[in-house]
Amino acid sequence: RSLGNGHNSRPTSPLKFFARAKSKSNDIFKGIAEYVLEAEHFLQETKGEENEEFKVVHGFLEMVNGIIDKLARDHMKVVFFGRTSNGKSTTINAMLRNKILPSGIGHTTNCFLQVEGTEASEGFLLTDDSEDPKSISSIKQLASALSSMKLKENSLIRIVWPKEKCRLLKEDVVFVDSPGIDVTPDLDSWIDQFCLDADVFVLVGNAESTLMQTEKNFFHKVSSRLSKPNIFILQNRWDVSVNEEDADEVKEQHYTRNTQFLTDELKVADKQEATNRIFFVSAKEALISRLHEDSQTPTPTGSLQKNFAERLFAFANFERAFEVCISQSAVQTKFQTHSERGKKITADLKDIMERTYTECLQACEDHAHKRQETADELEYLDKQLDLLTEEIKDKIKVMVEEVERNVSFALNDEIKR
Ligand code: GDP
Repeated sequence: RSLGNGHNSRPTSPLKFFARAKSKSNDIFKGIAEYVLEAEHFLQETKGEENEEFKVVHGFLEMVNGIIDKLARDHMKVVFFGRTSNGKSTTINAMLRNKILPSGIGHTTNCFLQVEGTEASEGFLLTDDSEDPKSISSIKQLASALSSMKLKENSLIRIVWPKEKCRLLKEDVVFVDSPGIDVTPDLDSWIDQFCLDADVFVLVGNAESTLMQTEKNFFHKVSSRLSKPNIFILQNRWDVSVNEEDADEVKEQHYTRNTQFLTDELKVADKQEATNRIFFVSAKEALISRLHEDSQTPTPTGSLQKNFAERLFAFANFERAFEVCISQSAVQTKFQTHSERGKKITADLKDIMERTYTECLQACEDHAHKRQETADELEYLDKQLDLLTEEIKDKIKVMVEEVERNVSFALNDEIKR
């Protein structure tokens, strides 16, 4: 039986690659921390806390513990972008197989909405202006909470949702929904505040119209700040366009323009890669069919349009490509930096400990040398003493003989008197 949250649906998710790398890195850094701690104790005992090397190694320990903390918080981040009502919120909800984001609120808020997982069993909201979490138990409550809050432009609202309810949140994917591009965007600050650590960008386009210059500008700016950003383009609302007579022609046009955008304009992909980044989907149909699948209720007739299976496949194919891309990118960008710092720390620590070892060896040799010198001196002294003793003995003998002689003279004199 399905768990109703997609947990069982794809046991071999590429996202596991990230989780495995995270847990392995964590084990390695815990090992390094033990090694640094041992070295720190040794230096403390042999050289004391004022010693420069002790201080350096103490600094290493803090760095390693910092990396371990950072690792625990590391996640994969995807940012959604596009005009209001193109279906960004619906796409995120379909991927989460949960109606978390209220749709259609893009008009009323200029905020970024971030959906991230928690181990807690209840969802809550976090805003920039307060430390206090605000409880949310339903989507309705979230929508009214969002519209009643007075929020600064470009602030971030974090929707912290139980991991148990969504596979992607459980796998450490964080979703960011941007305000629509038509809401007077300050693109530079958007990018600085919310996009620099993004692993993947999804441009949600509307299949009924071509990409706008403002939508393109955003990605021009992103690709000047991040080297080769990973960009997916979803031509959403394809359920509406597909019934048009010229649907195939329109599709071809979208393909050509989007491919050109990714290859010639942004230079973030070659032709082959670009075609694997463009998908014709219906987020609405994907969401509806998934919610019914998970609750094991039949999808009402009329809610899915003609040839819907094709669009559902396209949505699943997008997710598969997205999962491969985001996990690889996150492992590379996040863990590579940690691993380089880890390597530097262990190499520096090795140098210090080798130097300490050589110093200890030298000290032992000096000590042995000193002992040898003392032994030589003692022997010399001993000999000197022997000589001295001989000399004294001789002197005493002479003295005694003289005394004897004097005494016998004195005795003779006495006898003669
Ligand atoms: P956002 O402003 O980009 O986040 O757009 P929303 O996700 O809020 O969607 C705006 C409206 O378009 C909502 O009423 C959705 O139900 C609808 N919508 C979203 N995706 C699709 C789609 O694929 N097909 C159709 N027909 N409607 C959609």
